[in-house]
Amino acid sequence: MRALMLSLAVAAPALLAGCNNANPTKPVAEAAPVHPTGSAAVTAERLIKAEREPGSWLATGLNYHEDRFSQLDQINDTNVSNLGLAWFADIDTERGQESTPIIVDGVMYLTTAWSMVKAYDIKTGQKVWEYDPKVDKAKGADACCDVVNRGVAAWNGKIYLGALDGRLIAIDGKTGKDVWSVQTTDTSLPYTITGVPRSVKGKVIIGNGGAEYRVRGYVTAYDAETGKQAWRWWAVPGDPSKPQEQPELTSIALPTWKGEWWKLGGGGTLWDGMAYDPELDILYVGTGNGTPWNQLFRSPGGGDNLFLSSIVALDPNTGKYKWHYQTTPGETWDYTATQPIMVADLNYPEGKRRVVMQAPKNGFFYVLDAKTGKLLKADKFAPNTWATHVDMATGRPVEVPEARYEVTGKPAIVSPAALGMHNWHPMAFSAETGLVYIPVTVSSSVYATPPNFQVNLQGWNTGIGFSASSGQTPVAAMGAAPKTDSYIVAWDPIAGKEKWRIQNDVYGASGILATSGNLIFSGNHKGEFVAYDSRDGKKLWSASAGARVVAAASTFTVDGQQQVAILVGARGLPPGSTRTSATSANNSRILVFRPGGTATLPTSMPAGTTAPAVAKIDPPLLTANNETVAEGEQLYSQNCAVCHGRNTVPAAGATAPDLRYSALLRNPENFKHAVIDGDRAQRGMPGFKATMSNAEADAVMHYIIKRANDEKASQEATPARPN
Ligand code: CA
Repeated sequence: MRALMLSLAVAAPALLAGCNNANPTKPVAEAAPVHPTGSAAVTAERLIKAEREPGSWLATGLNYHEDRFSQLDQINDTNVSNLGLAWFADIDTERGQESTPIIVDGVMYLTTAWSMVKAYDIKTGQKVWEYDPKVDKAKGADACCDVVNRGVAAWNGKIYLGALDGRLIAIDGKTGKDVWSVQTTDTSLPYTITGVPRSVKGKVIIGNGGAEYRVRGYVTAYDAETGKQAWRWWAVPGDPSKPQEQPELTSIALPTWKGEWWKLGGGGTLWDGMAYDPELDILYVGTGNGTPWNQLFRSPGGGDNLFLSSIVALDPNTGKYKWHYQTTPGETWDYTATQPIMVADLNYPEGKRRVVMQAPKNGFFYVLDAKTGKLLKADKFAPNTWATHVDMATGRPVEVPEARYEVTGKPAIVSPAALGMHNWHPMAFSAETGLVYIPVTVSSSVYATPPNFQVNLQGWNTGIGFSASSGQTPVAAMGAAPKTDSYIVAWDPIAGKEKWRIQNDVYGASGILATSGNLIFSGNHKGEFVAYDSRDGKKLWSASAGARVVAAASTFTVDGQQQVAILVGARGLPPGSTRTSATSANNSRILVFRPGGTATLPTSMPAGTTAPAVAKIDPPLLTANNETVAEGEQLYSQNCAVCHGRNTVPAAGATAPDLRYSALLRNPENFKHAVIDGDRAQRGMPGFKATMSNAEADAVMHYIIKRANDEKASQEATPARPN
């Protein structure tokens, strides 16, 4: 008979001890501290003992270790079929929704696109307060990958938000009012924050993003009560003619760089993964890719370029460097190591060992000794083609020569593409199955060095041509690129092997929650929220989410009953589904499930509202000559393709509109106002006055008109399909 998790606030210790006989490895639950609703009374002690307070979800990764493994087992493999919707709430933004809700003292706190915070009473589902930091919408142009936010931290009565514009904001957990706010970035540079602050021992720690643009990455700790800066750690060296901020930048990092990288910042931004080990008192952070991506333009002549793409151990009290492990030396493909980091005890045959684990973009799963950083295991969790393996003697990847396009001078097809084999989507580790569950996306891309690199002050600085230029046929690294694919891998971190996988029907990644109920919960891009058996991946239950799901779920108890929450909504709707929300085109919602829940999601727009009509393609006739269209194509690919899609076709779920449908194509004057003068900056479309002439903008417009006419002709040639 399985252990039953009772209402922890009222259960007697003897009874709980009895329950735990069924599973001797299960931590003994203790009476949760009782605080008034909205107290957000998170302390170091509560976070250290988070697994003994399983009714709450105190931090983004559940606990300091960030394993996202809940001890709750009331909902389990035998009864999950009884799960139903308890309540839902519509979200009023419609970009990617990436946050994991945290649940503290009776309130659920989550963030949405545009760094907004919502607080809900977990008993009633009623919104308690909401907070809008009023980020200038023009800042959206500095966000490489949508205006997303992955959640908040709680500490001593306050909720901490990293806003897209670089502010760290402390909010009263009960009232939703500002307590303090600090600007953590230089506002003249394209820094952004999408990551979650971490609260560690009275400090709030936050990184930032922007390595696609031109920044130098760092992570900063602030006093949780006052917002005063406690320490800052820089990931890459600055101008070598000046003193470096930290001794290891001079002694370790500086000798691994060449050229004038600091002029564009060098990158290495810490935009997501962090974890803390309270026993060793070590903070682990992950660093990002180089700026520009192409090492030829960043550090001509090579070098490891430390501390790019590394897992770094820091002293959380002082920010002092302890050790690092670099996953991708001389990074040149946007292979970040900012992916989620977790601390765990692994049961090796020779005994238990405390480790740090990460599945970064580059496709290798790393297990490091948590104290020393020694590499214990590194194996491919997905079929990457840039390296054959990691040499365990040196700890370095053995690269495939063709993959290093900037050295060979030949365009190469390399897997993964910049999206990574695993991105920010949270993975989970079950202490009971011993498996890590990783959302995997297999992709590949052409990487080529363009004839020349011009700094773009307004956009991306990758230094990469994404198509084979000058008629050169790209070489596929390792002979062939794996097919585009996505699935959840159950990974054995001790053996360094895949145990089994769950195939996705629709391409895309979604975060993962594991529980002691022999379950993993994950959404998908087909529009479902699903429970699988954590031992074999068998699908046990699913519910319609009405939206694509990218975030990870959290679980908690309400009056002793286990519930599961998932924030849904991402760019674009699932195939075949329709808009059913008046406030969000992608049906962004918070969904909460409980045993026996009977609420239902709407299947059409609310009464009195109508979904906007589907756009019809209607471009003007093409009047420009071939030379103008060709010039426009070049300019488009340099300046517009990153957001609006290569060859004017937006990627599935892209944020920026499909320009072939734009009414501006019929109004060259307004097209110029948007592209040159920045008329739509508040909608995230920057003006290109500094880098583009009126004639060049005109050429871009004619190229789009050409592409729109091609599309119109193709649509007219294809009979309409049902739905
Ligand atoms: Ca990047």
